[in-house]
Amino acid sequence: MEKLLISSCLLGISSRYDGKSKAVFSESEIVTLTEKYELVPFCPEIYGGLPTPRVPSEIIGDKVIMKDGTDVTENYNKGAAEALYLCRLLGITKALLKERSPSCGVGKIYNGSFDGTLTDGNGVTAELLLRAGIEVFCESDIDKLIG
Ligand code: SF4
Repeated sequence: MEKLLISSCLLGISSRYDGKSKAVFSESEIVTLTEKYELVPFCPEIYGGLPTPRVPSEIIGDKVIMKDGTDVTENYNKGAAEALYLCRLLGITKALLKERSPSCGVGKIYNGSFDGTLTDGNGVTAELLLRAGIEVFCESDIDKLIG
């Protein structure tokens, strides 16, 4: 069965900065996903060495900065590298990632002002996976994976 890397918070795992999950899919969507793919849950921020809960971060220029000013770029880069390592190790060519996250966001992310404003761009992990040729989907794209 084809493997699919998936942001762990989308499966109900409490890996988000606020200690919560983001289980946006219906039960039937999850069932269909598991019928079509072997799911590989992953959280790049945790694999990058950050605790949960944690201070939220946003991308500012070429750095990732916590709301309290801490530079966590290295953690984000490490999490992205671990995601790519897992994809290569397990032969994963598709990833389903959480929208707007500074790690997982695809196409739109928060703009670094910590006021909820979005800008064009990808999270650090999404960007690395895309550059490596992994097909990256966000949760709004679920129908492309299960349709
Ligand atoms: S880094 Fe990605 S997987 Fe982890 S909590 Fe944030 S959006 Fe979810």
